[in-house]
Amino acid sequence: MKSQDIRKAYLQFFESKGHTIVPSAPIVLKDDPTLMFNNSGMAQFKEFFLGNGTPKSPRITDTQKCLRVSGKHNDLEDVGFDTYHHTMFEMLGNWSFGDYFKKEALPWAWEFLTEVLKLDKDRLYVSVFEGSKEDNVPFDQEAWDIWKQFVPEDRIILGNKKDNFWEMGDQGPCGPCSEIHIDLRTDAERTAVSGRSLVNADHPQVVEIWNNVFMEFNRKADGSLEKLPAQHVDTGMGFERLCMAMQNVTSNYDTDVFTPLIAKVEEITGLKYTSNEVKNISEEQNKTNIAIRVIVDHVRAVAFAIADGQLPSNTGAGYVIRRILRRAIRYGFTFLDTKEPFINKLVAVLANQMGEFFPEIKSQQQLVTNVIREEEASFLRTLEQGIQLLENVMVNTSGKEVSGEKAFELYDTFGFPIDLTALILRERGFSLDEAGFETELQKQKARSRAASEVSTEDWNVLIEGNVETFVGYDQTENEAKITRIRKV
Ligand code: ATP
Ligand code: MG
Ligand code: MG
Ligand code: MG
Repeated sequence: MKSQDIRKAYLQFFESKGHTIVPSAPIVLKDDPTLMFNNSGMAQFKEFFLGNGTPKSPRITDTQKCLRVSGKHNDLEDVGFDTYHHTMFEMLGNWSFGDYFKKEALPWAWEFLTEVLKLDKDRLYVSVFEGSKEDNVPFDQEAWDIWKQFVPEDRIILGNKKDNFWEMGDQGPCGPCSEIHIDLRTDAERTAVSGRSLVNADHPQVVEIWNNVFMEFNRKADGSLEKLPAQHVDTGMGFERLCMAMQNVTSNYDTDVFTPLIAKVEEITGLKYTSNEVKNISEEQNKTNIAIRVIVDHVRAVAFAIADGQLPSNTGAGYVIRRILRRAIRYGFTFLDTKEPFINKLVAVLANQMGEFFPEIKSQQQLVTNVIREEEASFLRTLEQGIQLLENVMVNTSGKEVSGEKAFELYDTFGFPIDLTALILRERGFSLDEAGFETELQKQKARSRAASEVSTEDWNVLIEGNVETFVGYDQTENEAKITRIRKV
């Protein structure tokens, strides 16, 4: 089944159960101080859960463009390294606003997966909330009893607060949830290792596909829970993961959501991507694969954000978008040897592929392409110049170790990525005083933190909520800093 048809089948199934199909909300949020981007299907309906206003229908279904790169849900650092987390992904969802609850939602989910899509029942696992003393929320007996009608008990797993109590952010509507996982390992692997212990254990071929959340509470600013005025259902299914299961592949990147983009990168670079079925690849090929995954993932996030009106910039959401694009450019530059702008050329492929369902990507195609091309050209210049400066540093270094101060200077005043510095030095037989660099970084972080305390911009939310995000929101582009370093 093609991805287009899978999406349609989902929406039509819930339409047949009395749901109204609505379009995705924009990926960028403009009026929510607790959230920069839509990170789940429910964000646009948050106020209805809280009892402020009524939706046009008590049953709604849609596919929501989501971005998980900041705040509570941040998957950025996994993207490219695993095969099922993306920055931007589609979340298929069905909602009940004070209407149906568990005894409809769970059997419908099962019906859709096993009867409409005909996924193998024996490969599905479900999870149920075990309860939390801390929050005074009991074990979800009702969900357990419902699942028992469909699933053998040894494939119903109890989950803790981390996995089975869904929260949009530090505050807001929340509740116990029940997930559905699929085991895509080969029969031989499945016989060798029991599936039970693997659910939620990050086995790359046993993945969560669908989360059914039962919204009953609101998490208040002081951390306590209060009952919502009514009970709601909020479900979210990862569209790309569902396509993986339906297309008999073991990586989202091997589905038709990504293969046209990958083919374009191959055409431009002359390099080859190997599918997840090809095992024992060389270290070189592995790096090529990672870089290609990063690029085809990130271009979707950036293109949809721009199409929804968020241009790359030096502050707030615009800076997050710029940073995602730069991450893609950097991977291309280092591992695919792309020294000219090329990511912008993927936009046409994306528009062609997604334009029917998301018309904004077609109508904004030219703007998106131009913006990405300009960003690429400018950052590639930074990279080229940085390399020249680094050459000078090496020439002027006596011995074979470059000091942390020098590396920090390049990073700090020039925006030159530290992992790239380390890589180039390694290739040239130099080493880097990493501890010295870290010391400089800490000093800088302390200075920025002091600066951010007096700011009232929404960027503060990210700084407080997540140590992984970068600082320097109020600084010029070349002074921007990323506080965590990832080494490839
Ligand atoms: P995971 O445990 O795999 O990180 P999650 O529990 O964080 O997923 P939910 O918040 O429950 O995910 O979101 C609902 C569904 O959205 C998940 O069941 C999954 O199919 C999908 N999903 C979540 N994060 C991503 C992502 N980064 N990329 C692609 N799909 C995702
Ligand atoms: Mg997650
Ligand atoms: Mg999970
Ligand atoms: Mg989940």
